[in-house]
Amino acid sequence: MPHNMYVCMRHANFSFLLMGCATVIECFSEGFETFLKLVCCNIENENCTTNDCEKCKKDVKDIVPLKHLSKMDANVKWQYWRKLGDRVVLTYTVAALSHLLHELQVQLPIFKQHFIVKVVCQNEIQSAHFNYRQVSIFTCVAWMFNETKSFAEISDSLHHSKIDVQVFITKLIQEIKKQHGKFESIFVFSDGSSSQFKNKFITWSLPDLLAEFGCKNLSGTILQRHMVKVQSMALEQL
Ligand SMILES: [Zn+2]
Ligand SMILES: [Zn+2]
Repeated sequence: MPHNMYVCMRHANFSFLLMGCATVIECFSEGFETFLKLVCCNIENENCTTNDCEKCKKDVKDIVPLKHLSKMDANVKWQYWRKLGDRVVLTYTVAALSHLLHELQVQLPIFKQHFIVKVVCQNEIQSAHFNYRQVSIFTCVAWMFNETKSFAEISDSLHHSKIDVQVFITKLIQEIKKQHGKFESIFVFSDGSSSQFKNKFITWSLPDLLAEFGCKNLSGTILQRHMVKVQSMALEQL
């Protein structure tokens, strides 16, 4: 369990307690949710997470496999964030497993509620996120002899394929031509690492496409620097 991932002190501490137990009781190493499922009959039921359920396990020792009950006096070591005045310090404790289980028992009721509130919040945030319509944005900067202009094209297509790139470029050239008139040379480069730019289809079709717009000279390079979703194109107007 990568405890350093938990920014929240309560999560971090509960994780430390579980890790300490897991050095003897392997099944405690599976993470919060697995552990809570062992002590709660239903972690989605409010009665269980608010400690009002009669059927939930009241004592964490009840979920310790029998073979480990003889190891209650074994020394285990665990870490714990504690507040000392206005500072938070990481402490180390070495004590009997029974002591650690007692600590876990004390923390459990409050952690159950804390955990479920966090999960509900996360689900709400995710469902809000995924309920929004998603779009692709193709961005581009065009350097022309007398000005520099940024463009952003928005599409419902989420494929990010070479065909999408082709359509984006066509629309872009149309727009540039509309705004700035005819051009004869173009230098194209992309700072994206994406294969939708670096493929034969684009290499072969781009000259023909640009010729349709009256462009006679095409040159370009694809830079290696990785910048997701940011594609650039430089135009030199003659
Ligand atoms: Zn937390
Ligand atoms: Zn219950």
